[in-house]
Amino acid sequence: MGWKTIDEMDLAGKRALVRVDVNVPVEAGRVTDATRIERILPTVNDIADKGGRVILLAHFDRPKGRVVPEMSLKQIVPTLEEKLGRKVAFAEDCVGDAAQAAVDALSDGEVLLLENTRFHPGEEKNELEFAEKLAHLGDLYVNDAFSAAHRAHASTEALARLLPACAGRLMAEELSALDKALGNPERPVVAVVGGAKVSTKLDLLSNLVEKVDTLVIGGGMANTFLAAQGLDVGKSLCEHDLTGTAKEIAQKAADKGCTILLPRDVVVAREFKAGAASETVKAEDTPADAMILDAGPDSVAHVEMALENAKTLVWNGPLGAFEIEPFDRGTVAAAKKAAELTKAGKLVSVAGGGDTVAALNAAGVAQDFSYVSTAGGAFLEWMEGKVLPGVKALGA
Ligand code: ADP
Ligand code: MG
Repeated sequence: MGWKTIDEMDLAGKRALVRVDVNVPVEAGRVTDATRIERILPTVNDIADKGGRVILLAHFDRPKGRVVPEMSLKQIVPTLEEKLGRKVAFAEDCVGDAAQAAVDALSDGEVLLLENTRFHPGEEKNELEFAEKLAHLGDLYVNDAFSAAHRAHASTEALARLLPACAGRLMAEELSALDKALGNPERPVVAVVGGAKVSTKLDLLSNLVEKVDTLVIGGGMANTFLAAQGLDVGKSLCEHDLTGTAKEIAQKAADKGCTILLPRDVVVAREFKAGAASETVKAEDTPADAMILDAGPDSVAHVEMALENAKTLVWNGPLGAFEIEPFDRGTVAAAKKAAELTKAGKLVSVAGGGDTVAALNAAGVAQDFSYVSTAGGAFLEWMEGKVLPGVKALGA
């Protein structure tokens, strides 16, 4: 990990361009979930406390290179001020005269938010000229937006190469958590991968079988693997055209010494709705008119055993259709086990993915995991083994 942290930067009196992710949900001009804003506070406060001038750079929504007034970052200023407990100045543009004037007006320890970087087409094109205009506003660059690091945009990539650059607190925390999970993990490592479809997670599965000791495959995607073994999965969600791919992944796992665990028993129902009549059957006994909606108790016990034998867990994707009761049971039971082992100091557990985070929150165990990534796409690309351009640009 060759990147620097803000501890290694000289901040007093310096203009720090800080790339953050404050792409929060907003309804009628009000922030409805401030989690992303809360997570950047350590970095912003730290730089300001050290006498740096904080210039926040961020995108909001998808204006596609045009000025879209409803996508102005101005609407988050009140929440940002409230959470920071500091005044936050705002500039109507992120480059040019308006930005320059706002930057020039900053004193040491003050905070400025620049308008949506994506109002300029140069942002998503990772254009050097645009990055140079941004660079002109600062003395150094801090990237605290891991969740945007899978995109090579001017404010996440090109800019990092134009100024002395380092990782913010949140970025550093995320990178070291991920390194502990897959980069340099304590073995054995178990990966749990669930969710709806194999097709969205091919690269992820392919990378994991090379890196982990045990791969638990659950959720809808397990059905494709079961079908590949010749089982009849009835009306279950199943990508029959991908059974060949499933076989290839299983073969690769066997070659690399990675054990794949598939569901042994499953919870099936005839309807996909809350409280639908359900029964537990062996995977090979799935009725032709039923669909698999969750892992059964025997499968869950198997996952729990794998967790007990592991030192590290990396998890993406629920084991069943967790949004609908009672098909959340497998996911909740496995999540509770992982949380319990983590609390006992026996397991390092890292999880990520939009639905996965929702499932862990619903199970009430997110805070007991070692690290829960809210980075979404960047987390998944990292699980796929990809080098994230925004991280690479911080210096290998
Ligand atoms: P994440 O957002 O964490 O990456 P995914 O989006 O890949 O996770 O998967 C979550 C979705 O998978 C949920 O909507 C869940 O209902 C669905 N799912 C899980 N198991 C099944 C199943 N057996 N049948 C149908 N859908 C399933
Ligand atoms: Mg999802």
